[in-house]
Amino acid sequence: MNAFRIVVPLLVFGGILAALPSCNSTSQMSGPKRSPLWEKELGAVANTPANPQETHKELNIKVDLIQKGKYGRRILRKLEPKFITIHSTQNPTGDAYAHAKALKRGALRGGVIGYLCWHFTVQDDTVIQHIPTDERGEHADFDGPGNTYSIGIEMCEHQGNNQVATMERTAKLAASLMYHHKIPIENIRAHYHWPREGYSTPNKNCPHFLMDNGRPGEDWRWFVGRVNRHHQRLLAFDEYLRQQKELEEQQQKQNRMALIWDRFTDLFGIG
Ligand SMILES: [Zn+2]
Repeated sequence: MNAFRIVVPLLVFGGILAALPSCNSTSQMSGPKRSPLWEKELGAVANTPANPQETHKELNIKVDLIQKGKYGRRILRKLEPKFITIHSTQNPTGDAYAHAKALKRGALRGGVIGYLCWHFTVQDDTVIQHIPTDERGEHADFDGPGNTYSIGIEMCEHQGNNQVATMERTAKLAASLMYHHKIPIENIRAHYHWPREGYSTPNKNCPHFLMDNGRPGEDWRWFVGRVNRHHQRLLAFDEYLRQQKELEEQQQKQNRMALIWDRFTDLFGIG
């Protein structure tokens, strides 16, 4: 009986303790950890080599640059990209074209030079480029490494835009940029990773739909995982070409040997 009295409260207490983490995780389920659903919707990234030129074409990049010497490009500041920074617009009305227009007429103020600018805006069916990848943008952290060393990509959030398709196009764009600029996967960063000096919340909850309670978690890791797999496909294409070249060389060598043997047998009347 005594033992029973002790066991029951322990069970109740244990039950409360057990419920606490699940409470916590239930509250997290409302926002983050949507990545298993996204992965299901998109399907796994193919395991086959992908041609970098074809991948670039598939991205459907429209180059619509801010005029040189104006607004976000009023001062030419060279960029040697070492990172890629991912943002989301948090704008429910503007699509990629609207952002391109706003940047081209200097409507978005802020940053070190008075005008915001970034390199690419992605929506579900297209990408628009606003500044060359060898010029610095104003999208992350004033004079911090986010601006001085990274290519900035904004993901659209306007109504009617397919968010999952936008993330996937962004992942492919990031992979393509990694490939062309030799940027490693650990240098794919959320805006969150670049603290903004002087702000009460220096680490911005951006891109917010990939953050877990305002910071990178499972969903962010899922996104980086997809970037990585797309990048692996591009690298695999280089390896595929190398192997093809090796096979061709072997074949040519065998053909030359066969030709020599034919001449030899003709000469001596063998065979
Ligand atoms: Zn941002």
